[in-house]
Amino acid sequence: MSTISHSLLQIKQRIIQTALQYGRSADDIQLLAVSKTRPVADIISAMQAGQYRFGESYVQEAIPKIQALQGEEKLEWHFIGPIQSNKTRLIAENFAWVQSLDSLKHAQRLHDQRPDYLSPLNVCIQVNVSAESQKSGISLSELAAFAQALTKFPRLQLRGLMTIPVYSQDFTQQRLPFRTLYEAYSQLQKSSFALDTLSMGMTEDMEAAIAEGATMVRIGTAIFGERGE
Ligand SMILES: *Cc1c(COP(=O)(O)O)cnc(C)c1O
Repeated sequence: MSTISHSLLQIKQRIIQTALQYGRSADDIQLLAVSKTRPVADIISAMQAGQYRFGESYVQEAIPKIQALQGEEKLEWHFIGPIQSNKTRLIAENFAWVQSLDSLKHAQRLHDQRPDYLSPLNVCIQVNVSAESQKSGISLSELAAFAQALTKFPRLQLRGLMTIPVYSQDFTQQRLPFRTLYEAYSQLQKSSFALDTLSMGMTEDMEAAIAEGATMVRIGTAIFGERGE
């Protein structure tokens, strides 16, 4: 068994165990394998172990990988990095999902540039739960209006929320921003947005995110090893 397929098994085991511990069904938690900085060969190893959902953060790096694997119809590519205006067309043409949407200008461009032959682009709004000025994401106070504004873009399908909280080693601390995002997500659902994706949790804080209701965890290091960034 390759190291990657072994790591995938382990991470799935962690998901199942954590779900059990917090009274959740593991079937409600999807695994996004974050393949940024990894070669195509690593993605193929993960595919051979049954993983088809991949996340990339840099358009320039992702496009050649996506093109190299174009024949693989089960693959689902998620863009999870900062969006630049001059890259929106490549994102709209090559990805099934964008999880890092935080500007209406980018929403307009992605909508206009999404090709007709593809289904609407699935989007998650990136929320800056910790309200740090230097980080990307919509603030909680702007969230409802932003979600409402997205309804005028039929080529975008709002699926949910995503966050990257400030790093903490402490489990109790890790849970706080995830609980805040979960509450914002529930609030939007109550005001009749049909959302099904709460994307939160990475290698170091996956358990805390699952405890607070994550429906998708984004895992790089625990699957592919340390990044040499
Ligand atoms: C890199 C990255 C991840 C994966 O992080 P790991 O700590 O390697 O699991 C998840 N989400 C986003 C947005 C990332 O940029």
